[in-house]
Amino acid sequence: MKGKCLIFSAPSGSGKSTIVQWLTHEHPELDLVFSISATSRPPRGTERHGVEYFFLSPEEFKAKIEANEFLEYEEVYAGRYYGTLKAQVDEQLQRGKNVIFDIDIKGGINVKRIYGEKALSLFIQPPSVEELRRRLISRGTDPTDQIEVRLEKAEYELSFAPQFDRIIVNDKLDRAKAETLTAIQEFLNSK
Ligand code: 5GP
Repeated sequence: MKGKCLIFSAPSGSGKSTIVQWLTHEHPELDLVFSISATSRPPRGTERHGVEYFFLSPEEFKAKIEANEFLEYEEVYAGRYYGTLKAQVDEQLQRGKNVIFDIDIKGGINVKRIYGEKALSLFIQPPSVEELRRRLISRGTDPTDQIEVRLEKAEYELSFAPQFDRIIVNDKLDRAKAETLTAIQEFLNSK
């Protein structure tokens, strides 16, 4: 295995996806590829099969669980499964790519356990639950009752932060991006 793993997990609304997209678009020198997960949820908006996710039916997802094709999988929301396909990741690592995982917290902890020193796990933390509430409201994509559900989940999820290699507090996006970049550069440059 030549490449390394960069695991990003966070409560929703903490800016994780923004940081991941910035890294993959603006830092080609890091040789990053995004690990495309499989999910049983339907595509949203402009999402395409094989780009953001492999969109599977619940039956197809189940068949892959039974065939032991997942490195890890979780029921992230009720009835909505998400999982990392072993073949996807191994192929990229063999090619010498550094694989970015944008996965939920349990998944992040599991992938770190599997890859050990070949993986850097980063927890992107919102400055506070109150700030997270403001962000979810201003994003405007969730109904109010869903926001409360997400916030409750966020409080629980924040308790897992100490299990990650690094905690990046996303108080100011530019600062959080810079801190993430430095952490990754140090990790990729270490043997
Ligand atoms: P969304 O539906 O908003 O794209 O993703 C919902 C959540 O599922 C996010 O927290 C995302 O990080 C997580 N997720 C995406 N892919 C995977 C995966 O392969 N495994 C796990 N455990 N979580 C995932």
